[in-house]
Amino acid sequence: MTKLKIIKDSKTLLRTIQIYKLKKKKIGFVPTLGSLHKGHLELIRLAKKKSDIVVVSIFLNPLQFNSKIDFKKYPINPTADKKKIYKEKVNILYTPTIKEVFPDNNIQKLKASKKAKKLCGRFRKGHFDGVVTVLQSFFKQVLPTIVFFGEKDFQQILIVKDLILKYKLKIKIITAPTIRDRNGLAYSSRNYLLDKKQKKIASFLFKTIKEISFLAKKNLKSLNNLEVTGKKKLINKGFTKIDYLEIYNENNLSKNNIKENNLRVFAAANLGNTRLIDNFKN
Ligand code: AMP
Repeated sequence: MTKLKIIKDSKTLLRTIQIYKLKKKKIGFVPTLGSLHKGHLELIRLAKKKSDIVVVSIFLNPLQFNSKIDFKKYPINPTADKKKIYKEKVNILYTPTIKEVFPDNNIQKLKASKKAKKLCGRFRKGHFDGVVTVLQSFFKQVLPTIVFFGEKDFQQILIVKDLILKYKLKIKIITAPTIRDRNGLAYSSRNYLLDKKQKKIASFLFKTIKEISFLAKKNLKSLNNLEVTGKKKLINKGFTKIDYLEIYNENNLSKNNIKENNLRVFAAANLGNTRLIDNFKN
């Protein structure tokens, strides 16, 4: 029987992890912001399959929010999260405060790789710097063998891969496909902020990028037009603002050398104050 350890401080965490390390256990790490949903749970299940010990962190990282309002209204639900974690038979739930993540009080922000300049990085200044900064600190505390990320945040995966390469970290990255509800809407903590009507509109984000992706593959010369068409469709469906709908070579987020087998459509669109992202490759 797995007995869940809920750990709030980095010293206890490191001590516990080091014992597992001495026993040559494979540590799988799933970092999250909390408000857990089916997407997170699938990632945790994958981590259970691929590692001996699973550590899930719940930490609403202020460094990755470029807007204080967005940070304040981000949904949190620690009680429901804990219940879900218990059910998944995770080994360690790490719920640190910011002081535990950055013990010396002097937060030195890391710079994310060049891929952070596009897509979400363009609209959320400093977001990916905040992501890599917190991850580097977590990596030193969790000592993961494998770290798990969802394709829902595809750009984040590329940036974390660059981080691992840059610092020559001995961490394997395993990624998991996006989990969606029956209407295609990608599960996201931000969905908890949507009302019924908005949720219906939200499902058109996936439907639209899927359609654009199919058309793009058939017509690689008309990618710019398709981006415009996609944005118009989203506005017509009721999205209030489109940050981006762009088609890239998924390997490097470049417009060069886009081919059928590397083409991925990325979008970020707002419904009122709620910003949703998604991406698709067929
Ligand atoms: P977050 O709490 O939003 O930072 O997400 C934590 C991890 O869960 C990240 O690796 C996300 O990519 C992943 N994730 C979030 N939503 C989904 C989803 N719908 N399907 C699969 N993975 C997801």
